Amino acid sequence: MMIFGLEGTAWNLSAALVDEQGVIQEKSATYSPAKGGIHPREAAQHHAQHMAEVVGEVLAYSRQQGLKIDAIAFSQGPGLGPCLRTVATAARTLSLRLQLPLAGVNHCVSHIEVGKWQSGARDPAVIYVSGANSQVLALRQGRYRIFGETLDISVGNAIDKFARSVGLSHPGGPKVEELALQAKQYIPLPYTVKGMDLSFSGLSTAATQAAKKYDLADVCYSLQETAFAMLVEVTERAMAHAEKKEAMLVGGVGANKRLGEMLTIMCEERGAKFFLPPRKFMGDNGSMIAYTGLLMLKSGMATSLTESKVRPGYRTDDVPVTWA
Ligand code: AMP
Ligand code: MG
Repeated sequence: MMIFGLEGTAWNLSAALVDEQGVIQEKSATYSPAKGGIHPREAAQHHAQHMAEVVGEVLAYSRQQGLKIDAIAFSQGPGLGPCLRTVATAARTLSLRLQLPLAGVNHCVSHIEVGKWQSGARDPAVIYVSGANSQVLALRQGRYRIFGETLDISVGNAIDKFARSVGLSHPGGPKVEELALQAKQYIPLPYTVKGMDLSFSGLSTAATQAAKKYDLADVCYSLQETAFAMLVEVTERAMAHAEKKEAMLVGGVGANKRLGEMLTIMCEERGAKFFLPPRKFMGDNGSMIAYTGLLMLKSGMATSLTESKVRPGYRTDDVPVTWA
């Protein structure tokens, strides 16, 4: 099976061709805000502007190589409404035009599936941390159950917001990671774990306040240490509860080396194995949508046109994992 996948829930418009063996082709166009964070309407306009070029390049490649596409997969949610609608419209058009079945993919599930595919994890507790989401999940009775999640903003958003407040451009995650390497001391910041859930909003604000008094590198370091320790604590408890012997880190924030290091240490101490997919599969990409579409279609889960409405609040645990 050869699937064409289209991602565009937020900052990255990305189309890819994937089969069971691997990624055959991928093209992306990245929206970066001139100032401030991601503006939903501007991001959607960006995707609309680049749609023909991104989709066209991948389709042209398939024609040149004489490849036969079997279905169209697209990210149906969760994500920014205007972006989702732009992507869904393009996917429906392709499906009608090429007479191919559609698969509406849950974006969060696709981060998990591409992670397992590319890292070799089999049944991990998943730490999914991105610009919009922070969840700790594990597969149980046919669904990715959410063991813990943020009660307000995601860890990526918390770091990006802090970064903007101290004059660093979006996305702030990589810049904060870089600065943290020069830190000399830890500054106490609010550590908020409620049961299995997390809160990052107050932490972000406290870091912004601290940056007025303390060295920026020290604050970056302290923000990372605090936020990541919270995530590691919840992950460890989820692993104990769900009896998982593996942990896997996915999502854009997963590119952070310190977070990977802290999870590695926790797993070693429990006799568990830590999995980290290659960096290019961490942030949003078309391949993860195509690959998850492939799994869905192989298990008979196509999406009809009437079911193809966008789902901005699509929950990870809404998806029956029929392929596992
Ligand atoms: P995603 O929504 O999965 O595409 O991920 C985007 C998020 O990943 C943004 O919040 C970025 O700031 C964050 N990010 C990317 N690289 C890093 C990094 N090295 N450390 C921390 N956060 C990062
Ligand atoms: Mg994502």
